Amino acid sequence: MNLILLFPEDFVEPHRARLAGRRLAHVRDTHRAAIGDALTVGLLAGPIGTGIVTRLDEDVLEMEVTLIQPPPPKLPLTLVLALPRPKVLNRVLASATSLGVRQIHLINAWKVEKSYWKSPRMAEENLMHQRLLGLEQAKDTVLPELHLHRLFRPFVEDQLPGITQGTLALVGHPGAVEPCPRQTEGPVTLAVGPEGGWIASELESLTAVGFRPVDLGPRILRTETAVAALVGRLF
Ligand code: SAH
Repeated sequence: MNLILLFPEDFVEPHRARLAGRRLAHVRDTHRAAIGDALTVGLLAGPIGTGIVTRLDEDVLEMEVTLIQPPPPKLPLTLVLALPRPKVLNRVLASATSLGVRQIHLINAWKVEKSYWKSPRMAEENLMHQRLLGLEQAKDTVLPELHLHRLFRPFVEDQLPGITQGTLALVGHPGAVEPCPRQTEGPVTLAVGPEGGWIASELESLTAVGFRPVDLGPRILRTETAVAALVGRLF
């Protein structure tokens, strides 16, 4: 937690926030903060700044909050991700958020197991929690939008063309002839496949709406590593 995220309901006065629970425990046990210490804080969807600890006991932390700076800019990147298995989903949501992805679309694919959609990790609360962890990690305050699409074909045919409009549309696919471009300028829509990869007809559907398959080299990477490697290479 490199930034403590604050919510409007934490404020007991205009510049005074009161925290309990996970954030209190973290400030006490990990930061080992004491009264008078300055912590980096940010208001969800708002500016970032400093919180001076004014009270710290077993169940309450109070801070005098000054919010002065805008959060870091997002990457001009929309991620279209075949729904990974639940454990990986948590990590990839947090890391995509930390990397600054602006919008995430979780989609179905042939090699996505149906049970993944029913996992408790798909609960709204968890999808929010993982993104909040990503924001706290990266000192950001603005959640990436998250959209779920249970049907591959209608999403690709009806919605993707609108999403990719004006962007460079790339689909990660090991063995693709084109190497992934480096240091692109302008917005990108990036599709990353499931653990078992895209099947031929999915790649055809994606290329039919303008996606170019790109390769990252001979190593097959896990979804979360592939996302990080692709983002590092593109921006
Ligand atoms: N066995 C699968 C591997 C899938 S890895 C296959 O051969 O396709 C999961 C996803 O990560 C892939 O669909 C792709 O989008 C991305 N990815 C992983 N390694 C990659 C690489 N070397 N080049 C491009 N994309 C990669």
